[in-house]
Amino acid sequence: MSAAVLSTPTGSWDVERVRRDFPVLGQQVHGHPLAYLDNAATTQKPQTVVEALDHYYHHDNSNVHRGVHALAERATRDFEGARESVRRFINARSTREIVFLRGTTEAINLVASSFGQGLREGDEVILTAMEHHANIVPWQLLRERTGIVLRVVPITPSGELDLDALPGLFGPRTRLLALTHASNALGTINPVESIIKAAHEHEVPVLLDGAQAVPHLRVDVQALDCDFYAFSGHKLFGPTGIGVLYGRERLLEAMPPYQGGGEMIRTVSFEKTTFAGLPHRFEAGTPDIAGAIGLGRAIEYLESLDWEGAMAHEARLLDHATERLQAVPGLRIIGQAHEKVPLVSFVMDDVHPHDMGTILDHRGLAVRAGHHCAMPVMTFYRVPATSRASMAFYNTFDEIDRLAEALRYAREMLA
Ligand SMILES: *Cc1c(COP(=O)(O)O)cnc(C)c1O
Repeated sequence: MSAAVLSTPTGSWDVERVRRDFPVLGQQVHGHPLAYLDNAATTQKPQTVVEALDHYYHHDNSNVHRGVHALAERATRDFEGARESVRRFINARSTREIVFLRGTTEAINLVASSFGQGLREGDEVILTAMEHHANIVPWQLLRERTGIVLRVVPITPSGELDLDALPGLFGPRTRLLALTHASNALGTINPVESIIKAAHEHEVPVLLDGAQAVPHLRVDVQALDCDFYAFSGHKLFGPTGIGVLYGRERLLEAMPPYQGGGEMIRTVSFEKTTFAGLPHRFEAGTPDIAGAIGLGRAIEYLESLDWEGAMAHEARLLDHATERLQAVPGLRIIGQAHEKVPLVSFVMDDVHPHDMGTILDHRGLAVRAGHHCAMPVMTFYRVPATSRASMAFYNTFDEIDRLAEALRYAREMLA
């Protein structure tokens, strides 16, 4: 679909130049050049992100916000500067709407705990059948505490949401719709704009799990008109241990604190504590300062790239991988949605995904095998696990060809 775009010279993408920004990609694994195809689990970090961490610990390490000395001022400036980079990247209105947390998982847990405190027995939260466990289990924990009811949008065999079922799931007690922007198990990009519109017609706020969307799509929270947006730094070419919750200011203002401690208070006495304003009220304790600065640098790096070129390259990789893998005897692709992020989940007759993963590893090919923290998806397709090759803008066509060839070999060896 994107081939026409890329055959024009302006759409060319210099993958070899970009790969030089990621020294980790240059290594050999078991005597073969590494082909890193596990980007949906975590992405590699460009040199500039590693340098930002190194610089912080070499020169600026200090706690943020409370200090009056030079290092504290530099650390605070860079930490809050990273928050501004995140705001710009997703086009939030204000940095008051950007909460730093450990990742997508913690961001969704924050909403379930804090927004969830306003829910009563019998209130309803709508999820979908393609959610990551991070967008299922926090709601089940809330259900145990409060007696809320969970409703689930089903999926179709091609791996898309069955949106005909959605209108029937809204009711007078619906309090939130929480769904993934893009599925980590299937690759499906959900039509979130129209889903958000439908939810808002019922005055239901929407939380998007953006862990798989931010590395591949332009995300504009104002254009989407979503109410919460969660993502992880480490899947966006940034460090582990840092992630983001975007929340519409009006909603965050009305939510009680998530955790208590330092940083999130204004005054404390044993009789009464008053809380800090947004976003600090949701950031109890010393944050991952270096991680936030590293994420800010990752965003600056992404902004320096030809994003249209990167996305077109990824679309071509996905087309190429789909075509090559489909042609491997006995292989079945799980998840054939029209709109996908660049990942291919698959099973092979008579071959267990873990055995497959081992054979591929011996050829330097890094893919993931398992349930991808989406066991309801596995149940739907009646498979215990899939193998998943997930790509980023630094992957090459040659790596895909090596994967397809290794899969043919694995089939001969194992089936
Ligand atoms: C990875 C992922 C998560 C969880 O992210 P963490 O970084 O582990 O907190 C949630 N949802 C989706 C769709 C993911 O891919």
